[in-house]
This record gives sequence, structure tokens and C-alpha cells, in this order.
Amino acid sequence: MAEIIRSIRGMNDILPDVTPYWQVVETALKEVLSGYGYQEIRFPIVEKTELFCRSIGEVTDIVEKEMYTFNDRNGDQLTLRPEGTAGCVRAAMQNGLLNQTQRLWYMGPMFRHERPQKGRYRQFHQIGVEAYGFKGPDIDAEMILMTARIWKKLGLTGATLQINSLGSTEARLAYRDVLIAYFESHQDELDEDSQRRLHSNPLRILDSKNPAMQALNDAAPKLIDHLDDESRQEFEVLCQSLDDAGLAYEVNPRLVRGLDYYGKTVFEWVTDQLGSQGTICAGGRYDGLVAQLGGKAATAIGFAIGIERLISLLEATDALPIIPSVDVYFVAVGEAAAKQSLLLAETLRDQIENLKLITHCGGGSFKNQFKRADRSGARWTLILGDDELSQQVVGVKTMATGEQETVAWDALANYLKL
Ligand code: ATP
Ligand code: MG
Repeated sequence: MAEIIRSIRGMNDILPDVTPYWQVVETALKEVLSGYGYQEIRFPIVEKTELFCRSIGEVTDIVEKEMYTFNDRNGDQLTLRPEGTAGCVRAAMQNGLLNQTQRLWYMGPMFRHERPQKGRYRQFHQIGVEAYGFKGPDIDAEMILMTARIWKKLGLTGATLQINSLGSTEARLAYRDVLIAYFESHQDELDEDSQRRLHSNPLRILDSKNPAMQALNDAAPKLIDHLDDESRQEFEVLCQSLDDAGLAYEVNPRLVRGLDYYGKTVFEWVTDQLGSQGTICAGGRYDGLVAQLGGKAATAIGFAIGIERLISLLEATDALPIIPSVDVYFVAVGEAAAKQSLLLAETLRDQIENLKLITHCGGGSFKNQFKRADRSGARWTLILGDDELSQQVVGVKTMATGEQETVAWDALANYLKL
């Protein structure tokens, strides 16, 4: 027998016992987002490699070692999107959306060649949100409040908000020199990645996940102490707005984000309940990106939620809802009864909106069909055999109590509506 072909490591099948939770989460997210005036945008999963190199930055984990890049048949170098912001900006620019303000969202798979582990996959899913043409910090505050509302709607607790300001480009450049000087004076304590980044992208050293780098990073000079006046003022307004709304947060001076395009506001929602993959939502302002990609300068801010991590956290905190997948399971024994059960089922679907009804299909004994009815989790089992057929009735068993009654076909819809 031929060996079965398995999926690619780190790319998961999302099976029917889990998809209902995805649907609940996706629906809740969409409802909150549309409540703030955000509209969906869909753009391709594949883009020119250059788009990601120019936006995310050459010296980042993603571009250095995580992208799925290949040559198209006509020789173009293409990449499976590792994140959505670059493609969203590209689409907005190309289609003239940036002439006015925009509030956009998208949802879908992202691809990064990482070492697979819990909470870290090679195909994972994000819901991304971007707002263009708003200078902030009012929209920064609103966006963060919106994330808090998403958690509230999902019943999610256990995540905390961290915020920081990365300042203007000039402030970051000046701080860069301060940081390089600091790390140079501790050169022998730097791990290999940090050595390599010391001169190319020293801010990224602060984002290191290596515990051995923790103490050194903790003691490093803080960007928040080197902010330009405008960024500092805007950060204060942002903090005040969050205070006014009663939303708790921590200022984390080491929060830098792993992509190059961020400046000013950055934020993450983190949890300690998912091991080291604890960031469920991350975002920030990226006013420079549109111009960097060749467009007319436009302010921008956005965030992305990792859906796998969000669902894991809901699971870990017992916040996943119980989703009844079936209302009615229809058991029918005998050829004529089975045929009639399909017709009765159609009538019931006409009569009761959104009824979840499974007809057994495939025949078998009462005993076997009842077993399936039990396992389905249905609230009622309908029973149709030769006797019921001749009298135009069905047996209705209420599964929770085991009680059974006989109901005429034309009274069935009313009975089940109770
Ligand atoms: P991390 O620091 O965990 O590597 P990141 O900074 O690379 O995350 P972003 O690019 O900001 O992540 O992506 C936003 C969110 O997408 C993350 O906060 C996380 O929830 C999720 N995410 C990122 N990479 C993965 C992955 N490989 N598998 C699952 N979820 C991911
Ligand atoms: Mg990462």
C-alpha cells in the first residue's frame, strides 16, 4: 500500500470539532470591527518578494529567515505573505484608497518558516486591522479600546495591555547610537543574533526572546527617555485617553515590535497562560511605510491578532462557548420510512428557521441509529418506523430526560419550537 501523504510541518488542518470556535471568534471580531466603521478588504496571499523586503525590513527575523519565497514560472520572485500590513498598504495605494481616510480589516492565513511549536506555526491565521489617514493619537486610543471590546465580547480575560512609543524617525536614529554604544560596552555578553544586529538593527536586540539576553536588555537605555517632544506629547494624550476610558495598561519601554516600519505608538496584548508564545495581539503606528513603498505620504496605524493563540487562550481560560451543533437527529428504519423522513425533514426546515437537523441517511438498525443520535448531541431524536409511518406520526425523544411522546406530522413544527 502506498504511504499516505502528510501535511507540511507547522501547517495544520483545522478539524470540524474546532471550526465552530473559529466561526464564533470570527463572527465576534467582525461584529466589533463593523461597529467601529471598519470594512473588509481582501488582497492576494502571494505578492512580489520585494514588497515584504521593502516594508518589513531586510534585517528582521521575517525577511532574514522566515519567508516562503519562490520563483514564478516567468522568473518573478514571489513570497507567501508573512503578514498582512504590507499587502494591505499595497492594495490601498494601488487602488487609490489613500486619498481619503480608511478603516480596513482582513482575515486569513499567513506563512512564516519558523520552528513549529505550540502557538507558533508555519501557516497561521491573523485578523488584521489598519486605519489610514489619521494622524492620531485619538485613533490610536480608539483602536486599543476596540481590541479591549473584542476581548469583552469573547469573554476573554487573562491578557494585559502593554504600550510604548517608538518616537519619530529622528528620535529613533539618535537613540540607535546610544543603544549601540551601550551594547558595544557589553559586547562579550551579546548572543550571536545580537552580535549580528548590533550595527544593522540594534533595536531588534531588545526584542530578543533569548532569556540570556534579558538582564542586559533590562538595563539598556530606554527609548522612551529619548523621545522627541511631539511623540512624547502624543503618548501622554494616548495614556490619558486610556486612563479616562478606565482601560488598564503597562508602559513597557522594551516593546519595540519585530518589524521595521513602526514609529510612535506600539502596543501588544500579552498573556502568561500560553508559555513563551504569549502575544495574542500586536500593533502600532507606521506613518512612514506608505512613502517608503513609493506612495504619497499617509499616516497609518494597525494591529493583528493571532487567531490560533486567541483560541488557545479562550480554551485555557474556559471561555470557549458551548456550541450546540444539532437540534434534531432523525432516526428512520425501513426503506419507506427513510424516504419519508427526508420529506418531513424538508418540511421542518421550511417551518423552523435555522433548525439544525440531521437525517440519519445510510440505513441500519434502530440500535445503531440511536447510538449516532446520542453521539450527535441533539436535543431531540425523531423516530420513524413502519408503525409511525402508517399512522402519520413520529416518536419524539427528549434526549436530556429520555421521555418519549408521539406527535402527529402536522403538529411536529409546533412541538419542536417549544
Ligand atoms: P512573536 O513575537 O510571537 O514572534 P511577532 O512579533 O513575530 O510575534 P507579529 O508579526 O506582530 O508577530 O504578528 C501578530 C500576531 O500574530 C502575533 O502577536 C501572534 O499572535 C501571531 N503570530 C505571529 N507569528 C505566529 C506564528 N508563527 N504562529 C502563530 N501565530 C503567530
Ligand atoms: Mg515572530
